[in-house]
Amino acid sequence: MEFRSFMELALEEARAAGARDEVPVGAVVVAPGGDVVARAGNRTRELRDPTAHAEMLAIRAACAALGSERLGGHSLYVTLEPCAMCAAAIAAARIERLYYAASDPKSGGVAQGARVFSHAQSHHVPQIYDGIAASEAEALLRDFFAAKR
Ligand SMILES: [Zn+2]
Repeated sequence: MEFRSFMELALEEARAAGARDEVPVGAVVVAPGGDVVARAGNRTRELRDPTAHAEMLAIRAACAALGSERLGGHSLYVTLEPCAMCAAAIAAARIERLYYAASDPKSGGVAQGARVFSHAQSHHVPQIYDGIAASEAEALLRDFFAAKR
């Protein structure tokens, strides 16, 4: 299935992030026609930037590539439930569909915590599909943090 293969790309980005000693989260932006516009992994440590989450980097790169601050009709695939910051960026970018893998009880801002898209203030609410390849994404994160202890 298509959504599965795009999540596989996001998982590749997550693995690459982990290999750089970043929290293994990856994201992919897909155009309405099915082309991959941008892909990114976490780079908060490398860039010394607390906003350099995979989703933020992928959205920035996609907007730069398209020459637009809006990504209407686009899909975002990310291996972990977006945090409140990324969810707000997803709404601002008008991403049409959000696919994520693992849920994030600690920092997630979609299905828990801030629940950004449930607020009346949210300018735009994407269609949300969760749990895609969740076990792979969870295993990546678990192994990464286990190796830290
Ligand atoms: Zn985030």
